[in-house]
Amino acid sequence: MEDYPRTLMELERRFSTDFACRAYLFALRWPEGFVCPRCGGRRAWPMKRGLWLCARCRHQASVTAGTIFQDTRLPLMLWFRAIWQVTSQKNGASALGVQRVLGLGSYKTAWAWLQKLRRAMIRPGRERLSGRIEVDETYWGAEEKGVIGRLTQHKALVIVAAQEDGGKIGRIRMRRIPDLTKATLHRFIQESIEPGSVVRTDGLPAYGGLSDYRHAPTVIAHSGQTGSQLLPRVHQVVSLVKRWLLGTHHGAIGQDHLDYYLDEFTFRFNRRSSASRGKLFYRLVQQAVQVDPAPFKTLIRPNH
Ligand SMILES: [Zn+2]
Repeated sequence: MEDYPRTLMELERRFSTDFACRAYLFALRWPEGFVCPRCGGRRAWPMKRGLWLCARCRHQASVTAGTIFQDTRLPLMLWFRAIWQVTSQKNGASALGVQRVLGLGSYKTAWAWLQKLRRAMIRPGRERLSGRIEVDETYWGAEEKGVIGRLTQHKALVIVAAQEDGGKIGRIRMRRIPDLTKATLHRFIQESIEPGSVVRTDGLPAYGGLSDYRHAPTVIAHSGQTGSQLLPRVHQVVSLVKRWLLGTHHGAIGQDHLDYYLDEFTFRFNRRSSASRGKLFYRLVQQAVQVDPAPFKTLIRPNH
């Protein structure tokens, strides 16, 4: 049963107390009922301040411990509103936007929350793409125009996989990669795409030798077509992700942060047909109680 607010008003009404937020997190973290994080016991008594006392090992468990909400000093209601901000807007939210809307005193807090939420946007153990997949690389860097060739300096190299869905784009995967070696390209494909799938790439020799896949390379130089005609889906994704980075985030993203922004774009893109924004909210809260906490010191510091 997917249970989520449909509108901002529903969100405000339903999550007006810390208790209500904790009850929601409880249902998402322990859908079959309480499970002690220490001993696996299934019985517990509620205590003060939202803690649960395990009947077997006496451990005092908190529904937020071990999740991205761990040790938060601000009310969960504010977190829920931040998540609503992130999921209810078509292009997502910037740290400045979240700070303003929630009236947070510090930009750093808003920034750290968004970084934590981005970590929750990649579900652990998610399935790989299958079917017919286009794969290509692109650069993200200071000079977005006129980037030609495969040599890169001060630019991030990003690899993108886009699933064919008839004439449209299905799901996507993308990641920053260190180089264009065979080992790097093959690792991305193995981790992102089911064996047996058709993998369409350009003629870069490093893509060669994909033994578990049906590899369909196209040599652009000999066909008279451009990359965007031969691998149209992946090129469309590349242009969308660049527009999003430049638009919502003004391109002000360091290479070290880029991975998390790519994760956020992927999360949004793969759920773009979901009619309800509330469902996106549900999905993100659900994943937020499944990932490890990211204490602030482990987050990369903002560079502005
Ligand atoms: Zn226990």
